[in-house]
Amino acid sequence: MTANLLDFDLEGLAAFCAELGEKRFRATQLFRWIHQKGARDFGQMTDLAKPLRQKLEGNARVEGLPLISQHESADGTIKWLFDVGDGNAVESVFIPEADRGTLCISSQAGCAVGCRFCSTGHQGFSRNLTSGEITGQLWFAEHFLRQHLKTGGDRVISNVVMMGMGEPLQNYAALVPALKTMLDDHGYGLSRRRVTVSTSGVVPMIDRLSEDCPVALAVSLHAPNDALRDKLVPLNRKYPIAELLDACNRYLVHAPRDFITFEYCMLDGVNDLPEHARELAHLLQTHRGQGVSCKLNLIPFNPFPASGLVRSPQQRVQAFAKILSDAGIVTTVRKTRGDDIDAACGQLAGDVQDRTRVDRRIAQQRTVMLKPVPADTTKEA
Ligand code: SAH
Ligand code: SF4
Repeated sequence: MTANLLDFDLEGLAAFCAELGEKRFRATQLFRWIHQKGARDFGQMTDLAKPLRQKLEGNARVEGLPLISQHESADGTIKWLFDVGDGNAVESVFIPEADRGTLCISSQAGCAVGCRFCSTGHQGFSRNLTSGEITGQLWFAEHFLRQHLKTGGDRVISNVVMMGMGEPLQNYAALVPALKTMLDDHGYGLSRRRVTVSTSGVVPMIDRLSEDCPVALAVSLHAPNDALRDKLVPLNRKYPIAELLDACNRYLVHAPRDFITFEYCMLDGVNDLPEHARELAHLLQTHRGQGVSCKLNLIPFNPFPASGLVRSPQQRVQAFAKILSDAGIVTTVRKTRGDDIDAACGQLAGDVQDRTRVDRRIAQQRTVMLKPVPADTTKEA
Protein backbone atom coordinates (compact mmCIF):
# COMPACT_ATOMS: atom_id res chain seq x y z
CA MET A 1 0.00 0.00 0.00
CA THR A 2 1.33 3.42 -0.89
CA ALA A 3 1.62 6.14 1.77
CA ASN A 4 -1.24 8.64 2.02
CA LEU A 5 0.55 12.00 2.15
CA LEU A 6 -2.34 13.57 4.06
CA ASP A 7 -1.08 11.58 7.06
CA PHE A 8 2.08 13.66 7.34
CA ASP A 9 2.86 17.00 8.86
CA LEU A 10 5.80 18.76 7.18
CA GLU A 11 8.35 16.96 9.36
CA GLY A 12 6.79 13.62 8.50
CA LEU A 13 6.72 14.45 4.81
CA ALA A 14 10.38 15.51 4.94
CA ALA A 15 11.26 12.14 6.49
CA PHE A 16 9.24 10.36 3.81
CA CYS A 17 10.99 12.31 1.05
CA ALA A 18 14.37 11.60 2.62
CA GLU A 19 13.59 7.89 2.29
CA LEU A 20 13.01 8.50 -1.39
CA GLY A 21 16.37 10.26 -1.53
CA GLU A 22 14.86 13.72 -1.86
CA LYS A 23 15.91 16.97 -0.17
CA ARG A 24 13.80 18.78 2.39
CA PHE A 25 12.83 21.66 0.11
CA ARG A 26 11.15 19.13 -2.16
CA ALA A 27 8.98 18.09 0.76
CA THR A 28 8.06 21.72 1.32
CA GLN A 29 7.08 22.13 -2.33
CA LEU A 30 5.02 18.98 -2.20
CA PHE A 31 3.34 20.01 1.06
CA ARG A 32 2.38 23.36 -0.48
CA TRP A 33 0.89 21.68 -3.53
CA ILE A 34 -1.23 19.42 -1.39
CA HIS A 35 -2.44 21.81 1.29
CA GLN A 36 -2.25 25.25 -0.29
CA LYS A 37 -3.43 24.27 -3.74
CA GLY A 38 -5.47 21.19 -2.94
CA ALA A 39 -3.61 19.13 -5.53
CA ARG A 40 -3.87 15.37 -5.52
CA ASP A 41 -2.30 14.40 -8.87
CA PHE A 42 1.48 14.40 -8.86
CA GLY A 43 1.39 15.09 -12.61
CA GLN A 44 -0.12 18.50 -11.80
CA MET A 45 2.86 19.50 -9.65
CA THR A 46 4.77 21.08 -12.47
CA ASP A 47 7.71 22.47 -10.52
CA LEU A 48 8.67 19.02 -9.22
CA ALA A 49 11.24 17.22 -11.38
CA LYS A 50 9.80 14.44 -13.49
CA PRO A 51 11.81 11.63 -11.83
CA LEU A 52 10.45 12.73 -8.44
CA ARG A 53 6.90 12.78 -9.74
CA GLN A 54 7.42 9.27 -11.04
CA LYS A 55 8.80 8.12 -7.70
CA LEU A 56 5.78 9.61 -5.97
CA GLU A 57 3.38 7.90 -8.38
CA GLY A 58 4.86 4.56 -7.33
CA ASN A 59 5.05 5.17 -3.57
CA ALA A 60 2.48 7.70 -2.53
CA ARG A 61 -1.04 9.00 -2.93
CA VAL A 62 -3.13 11.94 -1.76
CA GLU A 63 -6.43 10.44 -0.76
CA GLY A 64 -9.26 12.33 0.88
CA LEU A 65 -12.25 10.75 2.61
CA PRO A 66 -15.07 9.45 0.40
CA LEU A 67 -17.98 11.88 0.69
CA ILE A 68 -21.34 10.33 1.51
CA SER A 69 -23.50 13.42 1.66
CA GLN A 70 -23.55 17.19 1.91
CA HIS A 71 -26.28 19.33 3.45
CA GLU A 72 -26.45 23.10 3.29
CA SER A 73 -28.48 24.96 5.89
CA ALA A 74 -30.55 28.07 5.24
CA ASP A 75 -27.98 30.00 7.33
CA GLY A 76 -25.05 28.90 5.11
CA THR A 77 -23.80 26.18 7.44
CA ILE A 78 -22.65 23.13 5.48
CA LYS A 79 -22.40 19.63 6.91
CA TRP A 80 -20.50 16.79 5.25
CA LEU A 81 -20.70 13.12 6.07
CA PHE A 82 -17.58 11.11 5.20
CA ASP A 83 -17.14 7.37 4.93
CA VAL A 84 -14.31 6.04 7.10
CA GLY A 85 -14.91 2.37 6.33
CA ASP A 86 -16.39 -0.63 8.14
CA GLY A 87 -19.80 0.99 8.35
CA ASN A 88 -18.48 4.10 10.13
CA ALA A 89 -19.05 7.68 9.04
CA VAL A 90 -17.93 10.98 10.55
CA GLU A 91 -19.11 14.54 10.11
CA SER A 92 -17.55 17.96 9.58
CA VAL A 93 -19.39 21.26 9.69
CA PHE A 94 -18.53 24.62 8.10
CA ILE A 95 -19.94 27.66 9.87
CA PRO A 96 -19.63 30.95 7.95
CA GLU A 97 -19.73 34.22 9.85
CA ALA A 98 -19.08 37.79 8.77
CA ASP A 99 -15.50 37.91 10.03
CA ARG A 100 -14.47 34.24 9.96
CA GLY A 101 -15.07 30.81 8.52
CA THR A 102 -14.99 28.02 11.09
CA LEU A 103 -14.64 24.32 10.38
CA CYS A 104 -15.71 21.87 13.05
CA ILE A 105 -13.74 18.64 12.68
CA SER A 106 -14.17 15.09 14.01
CA SER A 107 -11.34 13.19 15.68
CA GLN A 108 -12.84 9.71 16.19
CA ALA A 109 -15.57 7.46 14.79
CA GLY A 110 -17.77 7.64 17.86
CA CYS A 111 -16.46 8.44 21.30
CA ALA A 112 -15.68 6.32 24.33
CA VAL A 113 -16.35 9.00 26.94
CA GLY A 114 -20.11 8.52 26.78
CA CYS A 115 -21.42 11.90 27.98
CA ARG A 116 -25.10 11.78 28.89
CA PHE A 117 -26.17 14.64 26.66
CA CYS A 118 -24.12 13.87 23.54
CA SER A 119 -25.43 11.91 20.61
CA THR A 120 -21.91 10.86 19.57
CA GLY A 121 -21.41 9.57 23.11
CA HIS A 122 -24.61 7.58 22.84
CA GLN A 123 -23.33 5.83 19.76
CA GLY A 124 -20.30 4.36 21.43
CA PHE A 125 -16.82 4.10 20.01
CA SER A 126 -15.51 2.41 16.93
CA ARG A 127 -12.02 3.71 16.23
CA ASN A 128 -9.59 6.58 16.18
CA LEU A 129 -9.26 8.53 12.97
CA THR A 130 -5.81 8.67 11.40
CA SER A 131 -3.98 11.99 11.00
CA GLY A 132 -4.85 11.86 7.32
CA GLU A 133 -8.53 11.44 8.10
CA ILE A 134 -8.44 14.43 10.46
CA THR A 135 -6.42 16.63 8.10
CA GLY A 136 -8.43 15.29 5.16
CA GLN A 137 -11.59 16.97 6.50
CA LEU A 138 -9.89 20.38 6.35
CA TRP A 139 -8.17 19.63 3.04
CA PHE A 140 -11.50 18.71 1.45
CA ALA A 141 -13.55 21.52 3.00
CA GLU A 142 -11.07 24.31 2.26
CA HIS A 143 -10.60 23.41 -1.39
CA PHE A 144 -14.25 22.56 -1.96
CA LEU A 145 -15.34 25.89 -0.45
CA ARG A 146 -12.89 27.94 -2.51
CA GLN A 147 -14.63 26.66 -5.61
CA HIS A 148 -18.15 26.58 -4.18
CA LEU A 149 -17.91 30.18 -2.93
CA LYS A 150 -15.82 31.27 -5.95
CA THR A 151 -13.18 32.99 -3.86
CA GLY A 152 -10.66 33.10 -6.69
CA GLY A 153 -8.24 31.00 -4.64
CA ASP A 154 -8.57 33.03 -1.44
CA ARG A 155 -8.74 31.14 1.82
CA VAL A 156 -12.12 30.40 3.32
CA ILE A 157 -11.43 28.65 6.61
CA SER A 158 -9.82 30.86 9.24
CA ASN A 159 -10.69 28.85 12.35
CA VAL A 160 -10.76 25.17 13.19
CA VAL A 161 -12.48 23.72 16.23
CA MET A 162 -11.98 20.09 17.24
CA MET A 163 -15.59 19.89 18.33
CA GLY A 164 -17.04 17.32 15.98
CA MET A 165 -17.33 13.66 16.84
CA GLY A 166 -14.87 12.20 19.29
CA GLU A 167 -12.56 13.14 22.12
CA PRO A 168 -9.45 14.59 20.45
CA LEU A 169 -7.22 14.03 23.48
CA GLN A 170 -8.02 10.31 23.39
CA ASN A 171 -6.56 10.27 19.88
CA TYR A 172 -3.48 12.26 20.69
CA ALA A 173 -0.92 10.63 18.40
CA ALA A 174 -3.03 11.33 15.31
CA LEU A 175 -4.20 14.74 16.51
CA VAL A 176 -0.82 16.42 16.85
CA PRO A 177 0.43 16.02 13.23
CA ALA A 178 -2.97 17.22 12.02
CA LEU A 179 -2.76 20.31 14.24
CA LYS A 180 0.78 20.99 13.04
CA THR A 181 -0.38 20.87 9.42
CA MET A 182 -3.15 23.35 10.22
CA LEU A 183 -0.65 25.75 11.80
CA ASP A 184 2.19 25.32 9.30
CA ASP A 185 2.83 28.36 7.09
CA HIS A 186 3.38 25.95 4.21
CA GLY A 187 0.10 24.20 5.10
CA TYR A 188 -2.99 26.14 6.17
CA GLY A 189 -1.13 28.84 8.10
CA LEU A 190 -3.81 29.11 10.77
CA SER A 191 -3.03 31.08 13.91
CA ARG A 192 -2.68 29.07 17.13
CA ARG A 193 -5.36 31.26 18.60
CA ARG A 194 -7.76 30.18 15.90
CA VAL A 195 -7.31 26.44 16.28
CA THR A 196 -9.19 25.10 19.28
CA VAL A 197 -8.99 21.69 20.86
CA SER A 198 -12.09 20.91 22.88
CA THR A 199 -11.79 18.24 25.55
CA SER A 200 -13.94 16.61 28.16
CA GLY A 201 -10.86 16.73 30.40
CA VAL A 202 -8.14 14.17 29.68
CA VAL A 203 -5.75 15.72 32.20
CA PRO A 204 -2.39 14.11 31.25
CA MET A 205 -2.96 14.90 27.59
CA ILE A 206 -3.73 18.55 28.35
CA ASP A 207 -0.21 18.72 29.76
CA ARG A 208 1.28 17.02 26.73
CA LEU A 209 -0.56 19.31 24.35
CA SER A 210 0.90 22.32 26.15
CA GLU A 211 4.36 21.01 25.29
CA ASP A 212 3.79 19.58 21.82
CA CYS A 213 1.38 22.00 20.21
CA PRO A 214 -0.22 24.66 22.40
CA VAL A 215 -3.36 25.84 20.62
CA ALA A 216 -6.48 27.40 22.12
CA LEU A 217 -8.14 25.12 24.66
CA ALA A 218 -11.82 24.61 25.38
CA VAL A 219 -12.83 22.40 28.27
CA SER A 220 -16.28 20.88 28.48
CA LEU A 221 -17.20 21.45 32.09
CA HIS A 222 -21.01 21.19 32.25
CA ALA A 223 -21.24 21.03 36.04
CA PRO A 224 -19.99 23.01 39.05
CA ASN A 225 -19.28 20.01 41.29
CA ASP A 226 -17.98 16.45 41.01
CA ALA A 227 -21.21 14.77 42.10
CA LEU A 228 -23.07 16.19 39.10
CA ARG A 229 -20.16 16.08 36.65
CA ASP A 230 -19.56 12.41 37.43
CA LYS A 231 -23.02 11.72 36.08
CA LEU A 232 -22.84 13.91 32.99
CA VAL A 233 -19.22 13.35 31.92
CA PRO A 234 -18.12 9.90 33.12
CA LEU A 235 -14.45 10.79 32.62
CA ASN A 236 -14.80 13.02 35.65
CA ARG A 237 -14.53 9.98 37.89
CA LYS A 238 -10.99 9.54 36.63
CA TYR A 239 -10.02 13.22 36.43
CA PRO A 240 -12.15 15.19 38.88
CA ILE A 241 -12.77 18.92 38.61
CA ALA A 242 -9.95 20.08 40.90
CA GLU A 243 -7.36 18.15 38.87
CA LEU A 244 -8.88 19.40 35.65
CA LEU A 245 -8.70 23.04 36.76
CA ASP A 246 -5.10 22.54 37.90
CA ALA A 247 -4.30 21.26 34.39
CA CYS A 248 -6.02 24.32 32.92
CA ASN A 249 -3.83 26.63 34.99
CA ARG A 250 -0.71 24.76 33.89
CA TYR A 251 -1.88 24.98 30.28
CA LEU A 252 -2.33 28.74 30.52
CA VAL A 253 1.41 29.17 30.95
CA HIS A 254 1.88 27.94 27.35
CA ALA A 255 -1.47 28.79 25.78
CA PRO A 256 -1.74 31.24 22.87
CA ARG A 257 -4.64 32.95 24.64
CA ASP A 258 -4.68 34.07 28.24
CA PHE A 259 -7.91 32.27 29.06
CA ILE A 260 -9.46 28.84 28.85
CA THR A 261 -12.93 28.55 27.35
CA PHE A 262 -15.26 26.49 29.50
CA GLU A 263 -18.20 24.98 27.70
CA TYR A 264 -21.36 24.35 29.62
CA CYS A 265 -24.29 22.60 28.00
CA MET A 266 -27.55 23.89 29.50
CA LEU A 267 -29.82 21.02 30.54
CA ASP A 268 -33.26 21.80 31.85
CA GLY A 269 -33.45 21.20 35.58
CA VAL A 270 -30.14 19.34 35.64
CA ASN A 271 -27.33 21.92 35.75
CA ASP A 272 -29.02 25.24 34.92
CA LEU A 273 -30.37 26.54 38.24
CA PRO A 274 -29.24 29.76 39.94
CA GLU A 275 -27.48 27.78 42.67
CA HIS A 276 -25.45 25.98 39.98
CA ALA A 277 -24.47 29.35 38.52
CA ARG A 278 -23.34 30.66 41.89
CA GLU A 279 -21.41 27.48 42.65
CA LEU A 280 -19.76 27.67 39.23
CA ALA A 281 -18.74 31.32 39.66
CA HIS A 282 -17.30 30.49 43.08
CA LEU A 283 -15.41 27.48 41.73
CA LEU A 284 -13.87 29.31 38.77
CA GLN A 285 -12.89 32.32 40.84
CA THR A 286 -11.56 30.68 43.97
CA HIS A 287 -9.98 27.41 42.82
CA ARG A 288 -6.75 27.04 44.85
CA GLY A 289 -7.13 30.62 45.93
CA GLN A 290 -6.40 32.08 42.50
CA GLY A 291 -9.20 30.83 40.26
CA VAL A 292 -8.80 30.10 36.55
CA SER A 293 -8.57 32.79 33.89
CA CYS A 294 -11.49 31.85 31.68
CA LYS A 295 -14.46 32.62 29.52
CA LEU A 296 -17.64 30.69 29.81
CA ASN A 297 -19.63 29.57 26.79
CA LEU A 298 -23.13 28.38 27.53
CA ILE A 299 -24.40 25.95 24.90
CA PRO A 300 -28.13 25.46 24.56
CA PHE A 301 -28.59 21.69 24.66
CA ASN A 302 -29.42 20.25 21.26
CA PRO A 303 -31.87 17.51 21.99
CA PHE A 304 -31.92 14.13 20.34
CA PRO A 305 -34.57 11.57 21.07
CA ALA A 306 -32.49 9.01 22.98
CA SER A 307 -31.07 11.54 25.44
CA GLY A 308 -34.09 11.86 27.68
CA LEU A 309 -32.96 15.43 28.37
CA VAL A 310 -34.48 18.79 27.57
CA ARG A 311 -33.01 22.14 26.53
CA SER A 312 -33.09 24.81 29.23
CA PRO A 313 -35.65 27.53 28.60
CA GLN A 314 -34.08 30.70 27.23
CA GLN A 315 -34.96 32.73 30.32
CA ARG A 316 -33.12 30.27 32.53
CA VAL A 317 -30.04 30.49 30.29
CA GLN A 318 -30.17 34.29 30.46
CA ALA A 319 -30.54 34.25 34.24
CA PHE A 320 -27.63 31.81 34.53
CA ALA A 321 -25.48 33.97 32.26
CA LYS A 322 -26.33 37.07 34.29
CA ILE A 323 -25.21 35.54 37.58
CA LEU A 324 -21.87 34.59 36.02
CA SER A 325 -21.42 37.96 34.28
CA ASP A 326 -22.31 39.86 37.44
CA ALA A 327 -19.67 37.82 39.25
CA GLY A 328 -17.13 39.09 36.67
CA ILE A 329 -16.83 36.05 34.38
CA VAL A 330 -17.10 36.80 30.66
CA THR A 331 -20.06 34.67 29.60
CA THR A 332 -21.52 34.13 26.16
CA VAL A 333 -24.42 32.05 24.94
CA ARG A 334 -23.59 30.05 21.82
CA LYS A 335 -25.76 30.73 18.82
CA THR A 336 -27.20 27.56 17.44
CA ARG A 337 -26.28 27.17 13.80
CA GLY A 338 -27.29 24.60 11.24
CA ASP A 339 -30.22 23.45 13.36
CA ASP A 340 -32.27 22.57 10.29
CA ILE A 341 -29.66 20.08 9.10
CA ASP A 342 -28.80 18.57 12.51
CA ALA A 343 -25.36 20.16 12.38
CA ALA A 344 -25.48 21.79 15.80
CA CYS A 345 -23.17 20.79 18.66
CA GLY A 346 -23.73 17.31 19.91
CA GLN A 347 -26.03 16.40 17.04
CA LEU A 348 -23.25 14.99 14.95
CA ALA A 349 -24.06 11.37 14.88
CA GLY A 350 -22.50 10.00 11.73
CA ASP A 351 -22.73 6.26 11.79
CA VAL A 352 -20.76 4.21 14.24
CA GLN A 353 -20.32 0.51 14.67
CA ASP A 354 -20.10 0.51 18.43
CA ARG A 355 -17.48 -1.68 20.04
CA THR A 356 -17.94 -0.60 23.62
CA ARG A 357 -21.46 -1.66 24.66
CA VAL A 358 -22.17 1.98 25.32
CA ASP A 359 -25.90 1.37 25.35
CA ARG A 360 -25.50 -0.70 28.46
CA ARG A 361 -23.26 1.86 30.17
CA ILE A 362 -25.66 4.66 29.39
CA ALA A 363 -28.61 2.65 30.62
CA GLN A 364 -26.75 2.32 33.91
CA GLN A 365 -26.18 6.07 34.05
CA ARG A 366 -29.84 6.81 33.54
CA THR A 367 -30.21 7.28 37.26
CA VAL A 368 -29.33 10.93 36.53
CA MET A 369 -32.63 11.57 34.78
CA LEU A 370 -34.22 14.29 36.77
CA LYS A 371 -37.29 15.16 34.79
CA PRO A 372 -39.89 13.26 32.87
CA VAL A 373 -39.49 14.05 29.19
CA PRO A 374 -42.28 15.85 27.36
CA ALA A 375 -43.38 14.19 24.16
CA ASP A 376 -41.89 16.68 21.71
CA THR A 377 -38.51 17.97 22.76
CA THR A 378 -36.76 17.86 19.45
CA LYS A 379 -37.25 21.46 18.38
CA GLU A 380 -37.56 24.20 20.91
CA ALA A 381 -37.10 27.96 20.91
N1 SAH B 1 -15.14 15.49 22.93
C1 SAH B 1 -14.86 16.89 22.97
C2 SAH B 1 -15.16 17.61 21.69
C3 SAH B 1 -16.40 17.23 20.94
S1 SAH B 1 -17.94 17.69 21.66
C4 SAH B 1 -15.58 17.54 24.13
O1 SAH B 1 -16.43 16.90 24.74
O2 SAH B 1 -15.24 18.67 24.44
C5 SAH B 1 -17.98 19.45 21.39
C6 SAH B 1 -18.88 20.20 22.37
O3 SAH B 1 -20.25 19.90 22.12
C7 SAH B 1 -18.60 19.83 23.80
O4 SAH B 1 -18.53 20.96 24.62
C8 SAH B 1 -19.80 19.01 24.14
O5 SAH B 1 -20.02 18.99 25.51
C9 SAH B 1 -20.89 19.69 23.37
N2 SAH B 1 -22.09 18.88 23.21
C10 SAH B 1 -22.15 17.54 23.14
N3 SAH B 1 -23.44 17.15 22.99
C11 SAH B 1 -24.19 18.26 22.96
C12 SAH B 1 -25.58 18.51 22.80
N4 SAH B 1 -26.45 17.52 22.63
N5 SAH B 1 -26.00 19.78 22.80
C13 SAH B 1 -25.12 20.79 22.94
N6 SAH B 1 -23.79 20.63 23.09
C14 SAH B 1 -23.33 19.38 23.10
FE1 SF4 C 1 -17.30 12.37 23.59
FE2 SF4 C 1 -17.28 15.04 23.71
FE3 SF4 C 1 -19.55 13.71 23.17
FE4 SF4 C 1 -18.51 13.61 25.61
S1 SF4 C 1 -19.31 15.42 24.57
S2 SF4 C 1 -19.30 11.88 24.44
S3 SF4 C 1 -16.33 13.62 25.15
S4 SF4 C 1 -17.74 13.78 21.90
